[in-house]
Amino acid sequence: MASAKLKDSAALKVRLMCEGVRYTAALGAAAAHSMPNYYPYRFKPGEPDPFGKGTAPIPYLMNTPDGTEIRVLGNGDSPWAVQGSRESGYELVDDKGQQRLPIVFEPIHPWFTQKTPDGVAFAQAGVTTHGDMLVINVAPGCEYFLHKHEGQSMRCTFCNYGAPDTRLGPLGQKPGQVEIPEATLERMSQAMAAVVEQTEIRHIYLVGGSLTDPTREAERFLQLARFVKHANARRIPVALGSGALPDEAIARFKAETLVDHVCFNLEVWSEPLFAKVCPGKNRYVGYGKWIESLENAVRHFGRGNVFSAMVAGVELEPEHDMEWEQAADLALQGAEDLCGRGIIPVYSLVWPVGGRQRPDYHQRLFNYFEKFSLGYRDIRKKHALRIPETFMCHRCAYMQVECDLDRQEPPAR
Ligand code: SF4
Repeated sequence: MASAKLKDSAALKVRLMCEGVRYTAALGAAAAHSMPNYYPYRFKPGEPDPFGKGTAPIPYLMNTPDGTEIRVLGNGDSPWAVQGSRESGYELVDDKGQQRLPIVFEPIHPWFTQKTPDGVAFAQAGVTTHGDMLVINVAPGCEYFLHKHEGQSMRCTFCNYGAPDTRLGPLGQKPGQVEIPEATLERMSQAMAAVVEQTEIRHIYLVGGSLTDPTREAERFLQLARFVKHANARRIPVALGSGALPDEAIARFKAETLVDHVCFNLEVWSEPLFAKVCPGKNRYVGYGKWIESLENAVRHFGRGNVFSAMVAGVELEPEHDMEWEQAADLALQGAEDLCGRGIIPVYSLVWPVGGRQRPDYHQRLFNYFEKFSLGYRDIRKKHALRIPETFMCHRCAYMQVECDLDRQEPPAR
């Protein structure tokens, strides 16, 4: 029997998630009027580089005509390229000339270049957006980056956004300090008000770097969530995206109606993989405790309102020595287990760092993610679980495909 295949815009999205797009003048021109990508395009050796700098700005997000949102990933080896112009419209074109699809890029919004009354750029005040999701991150520095055990850093191996860097200055985040400065929260709320005014925001997601003590992390997130509850005049649904927290803290979030959803990111399935990929989470919380904390959250918030972001594709790092079929099966085992506990995992594709020299690097990633995504759709159907529109939807899921697949074939409720 032929294996199932992704179709329509979900198939295109997964292709682009696995293969990215090549640099063209049209893609470069689009950067001038689009939300900027946090990762500039990196020209590969020998690739024509019109600026001679090795990198170039590119847009962050593109949308297909049916509203599917896709992150723009630069890749000099991609068979995909962008053509056209702002005036005539942009198209995504494949090398074989078989596909030519109209796309739009998420436009740059006025708030991105505006400032708080005391002169801090809104873009540095702890807010970002993707589609209709507002992400609030006023303490991005993760303590796991500051700790080593037996020579091994405690940061998650795939992570490059938790590093304490220049973002911390304008936010006033200092190592060891739990409390968020009042001025930081005020600036964030000014930025948040501008974003909500200028764009259609349907979800708010509270995130931040981890602390090595979950009780202290809970204190920080309670302070943030209480502030956001007050500032959130339109009552936009809020998700708590902290690390795993103690049961008493989860109960507080519920009792004070601070958030609608909870998302503690387990990242990968299986204890051995968790220990290797997330050494800090494993050391300071532990695999079993992390799952227990998610189960506690289900007890307080109900089945289907608790999530775990997962990184799909790290299993394919050469050190884990897995074929793509095995990697997909392991991830599916995790999806089945978590759904059985009322927890909905949500998978973002990451590109393995190793193995790039393999000629089948991108195809292998595609095969893995296609098999996994279709299998996981069936698991959600079996458990009658669907990602609630209040948590996330196809308009903000830029690196995930669950909402797109559920939109194609809604599971029974
Ligand atoms: S806990 Fe989060 S921020 Fe910290 S290293 Fe892991 S993924 Fe990055």
